[in-house]
Amino acid sequence: MGFVSETHAPGHAAKGASGMGVTAGMGVADGMTVASGMGIGIGSGTGVASAIGTPGHAHDRHIDGCGTLDATWQAWPGLAALLPISAAVLVPAHRRAIIVAPHPDDEVLACGGLLQLLHAQGTHTVLLAVTDGDASHPGSTLLTPADLGRHRPRETAAAMHALGITPHILRARIGDGQVLANLDQLHNLLVQLLQPGDVVFTTFRQDGHPDHEACGLAAALAVRACHATLVEMPVWSWHWATPGDHRLPWRRARRLQLSDDILQRKQQAVECFQTQLNDDPSTGQPAILPPHVLQRLLRPYEIYFI
Ligand SMILES: [Zn+2]
Repeated sequence: MGFVSETHAPGHAAKGASGMGVTAGMGVADGMTVASGMGIGIGSGTGVASAIGTPGHAHDRHIDGCGTLDATWQAWPGLAALLPISAAVLVPAHRRAIIVAPHPDDEVLACGGLLQLLHAQGTHTVLLAVTDGDASHPGSTLLTPADLGRHRPRETAAAMHALGITPHILRARIGDGQVLANLDQLHNLLVQLLQPGDVVFTTFRQDGHPDHEACGLAAALAVRACHATLVEMPVWSWHWATPGDHRLPWRRARRLQLSDDILQRKQQAVECFQTQLNDDPSTGQPAILPPHVLQRLLRPYEIYFI
């Protein structure tokens, strides 16, 4: 068991090493509708799940339609009232930051601003890419799973370059849509990777996308075993939740302000994810990251659940 390590240089594909060797699944892809009952449950065949904030079923966290528009979020005073936090408080000196990204693009959408701030303060940052995102275009003749498995890791590399950062990137090569089914594998990888004091950033345990929720759960379990700290990040939560929604942990929420320069580089990094930004005429599938979705994720601040 191990990782596939790669350089961050744009234009270089992920190394062709076999790594974890998990075949791409055709499960729920990033941005696709989350079917009822796809949520994380204890009885998923894993030996590691325990009652650590296990969210139960995602029947009330659907990702379909336009979701809650950013204008609706902005009209809610609760967002502006969230307590501020700095990168130096999120990741104190001499600690590592471990970013666990379910799909290529989550690392930028969730924390592309923070990544720049961590780089500026000299934090050693590791990006664990859990899947290669190869199931985002089911049935497409323009972007097959093999195409996506090549393109999307390159998009992440280009995005890191756009951010001006050089994190160490590890690829777990778990199948897109198959993270929950491979929870033990991800947990074991994290336990190998983590050191006491590490700060682990990953998607919120109840984010609504099964892969996002599984990453949150695996990280929650691993930080407990490794004496590390977990910080969760909402991505699709902004879609299905509503202002003041009791399903989000607002008391744990902190607001990281981004300068104009940092936000601009985050926007440029998002532009690198071309496979997610365009409609697919071969299937009629609209872009996974249309403007109304990006608007929620390109605010001049990022929200973290500490
Ligand atoms: Zn994702």
